[in-house]
Amino acid sequence: MVYRGAVDAVVVGGGLVGCLVARALVAAGLGVALIERDAELGSRASTAAAGMLSPQMEAAEGLLAESSARAETMLTFCLAGRDRYPSLVESLSRETGLEIEYRARGTLVVATEPTRAGVLATAAAAHAARGLAAEFVDHDAARRLEPSLAAGIEGGLLLPDDHQVDAVALVGAAARAVAAEPQVRLEVNCRVVGVDTAAGRVTGVRTERLDGATDYQAANLVVVAAGAWSGSVEGLPRRLDVLPVKGQMVAVDGRVAGLTHTVGGHGAYCVPRGDSRVLIGATVERAGFDVTVDETAIEGLVAAAAEYVPVLKHADRLRAWAGIRPGTPDALPIVGPDPDIGGLVYATGHYRNGILLAPITAEAVAALAIGLEPPVDLAPFAPDRCTDTLQGVGGG
Ligand SMILES: Cc1cc2nc3c(=O)[nH]c(=O)nc-3n(C[C@H](O)[C@H](O)[C@H](O)COP(=O)(O)OP(=O)(O)OC[C@H]3O[C@@H](n4cnc5c(N)ncnc54)[C@H](O)[C@@H]3O)c2cc1C
Repeated sequence: MVYRGAVDAVVVGGGLVGCLVARALVAAGLGVALIERDAELGSRASTAAAGMLSPQMEAAEGLLAESSARAETMLTFCLAGRDRYPSLVESLSRETGLEIEYRARGTLVVATEPTRAGVLATAAAAHAARGLAAEFVDHDAARRLEPSLAAGIEGGLLLPDDHQVDAVALVGAAARAVAAEPQVRLEVNCRVVGVDTAAGRVTGVRTERLDGATDYQAANLVVVAAGAWSGSVEGLPRRLDVLPVKGQMVAVDGRVAGLTHTVGGHGAYCVPRGDSRVLIGATVERAGFDVTVDETAIEGLVAAAAEYVPVLKHADRLRAWAGIRPGTPDALPIVGPDPDIGGLVYATGHYRNGILLAPITAEAVAALAIGLEPPVDLAPFAPDRCTDTLQGVGGG
């Protein structure tokens, strides 16, 4: 085993979360080893994503539709993530010279039947009362915004501040930015096989490269950002309940629809891109780490989208793919310090909102790393809220 010179911090996993965490740690003055199992950074969930930055849509009808303290906390975290986006995109583009499509045209959540329209109208009022931009629009107004909407549309919830970003371009720029950073030691094709601790603190990580060579990387801070695989990193003091949740999507030629907003509807959403593609997503499946695409699932997505944008039914299909979201039992991320092991921090479990939440997660982790108060309350995302402590694990 080769012992590498110590760095201040090791980041386990080079998805969008790991890349932005590494970048934020460097900005906080730390030297970082970013360790990624694959040949390229960001080739898993982060590049499979639709890139919606849509806390309000989630709050209106998704996982956060319930009114509870938990939903409110998550909405606050997600709004903080959304707020960071314009400056993140601007700084990554400037640093790397890469163009990142960031579309600020807003999101329209539509209803094809009256009950759902009522839910959206209630959500509009609740968001407006909270000071968020939201408006319920009737049938005519919805079709003025998006003329290709179905004649049977009852109305829609217009969310002007729920934007979207091209996740592939974003991840490419984040990867280039960290790779160019002198304070980052980047290791690809290298898997973290264990986190080591002594006397209640992390001491470093053991790694294994593709050719089987093993190394030891010493560090005082280890950030677990291994996405859906976070629970299988060995040596953690607790079992992390990060569950793989498969999502399939399809890109179609969207010229027939001419959408300008992200359009959310029952069973599918449509995300228009500047190159005239429309991304239709996404399934939510418990299928382990399987990433095969199945035609029935893709047909189902297109059929659901065609319920409210009928012309998409016959749009040319360009590509379909699948990715694995890092889910958790309560659908909240796991972000924050380990309560028992000093220097061990989690940045995982972002489920359907990892693109949205990556910048605020990175900012929070960097604040913890240098002893500052994180910009948001991380208590609801604590790693021990839904996991067991493993007895006798965590040493050597
Ligand atoms: C179809 C689909 C659509 C989505 N749409 C959206 C959306 O519109 N908006 C949104 O905000 N989110 C969306 N998401 C969710 C989002 O993609 C994820 O939450 C986010 O990408 C998670 O980022 P990550 O960096 O934690 O994980 P990943 O991108 O999966 O990165 C984890 C990395 O860790 C590496 N790794 C794993 N184990 C090890 C190890 N032991 N050692 C070293 N490296 C390791 C992996 O190789 C991987 O590169 C979507 C997801 C899917 C699948």
